[in-house]
Amino acid sequence: MVANINDINFLLKQKGLNVTGIRRKVLELLRSPGIALTQKEIEEQLEQDMGQVDRVTVYRTIRTLVEKKIIHQIAIDSQTVKYKLAGKHINSAHAHFHCSHCNKLICMPQVDIKKDTLPGGFVMESSSLIIEGICAHCNLPAGK
Ligand SMILES: [Zn+2]
Ligand SMILES: [Zn+2]
Repeated sequence: MVANINDINFLLKQKGLNVTGIRRKVLELLRSPGIALTQKEIEEQLEQDMGQVDRVTVYRTIRTLVEKKIIHQIAIDSQTVKYKLAGKHINSAHAHFHCSHCNKLICMPQVDIKKDTLPGGFVMESSSLIIEGICAHCNLPAGK
């Protein structure tokens, strides 16, 4: 997990990217566990923090971070795409759990989508598996 600013700088440099204010800000927004945001939510939060932001710059920043696999792109449904810090599950195609109550999105690397589960001759290009439900926190009995 990316815990602090130094880690964010390291993450960018490790991928050969310059540390820019906007890249750092976007990663700061996404660093908490379970946090996944849409591009619009990222824009709104950046505007709160920095005032006016250029949408094209935000868009390009997100694209670059996705290309470098620092964040990954998760389609919740046909309308909603969220971005999440890839963290240590960078290289596996895995499922995500989406809590319909608090909107948390959690990586489920234990549900690994393996290429060799496909029928012979089939090639996987991308995969997207979302498990909808209620997370442990939201599932606690009321009053706790
Ligand atoms: Zn929840
Ligand atoms: Zn994930």
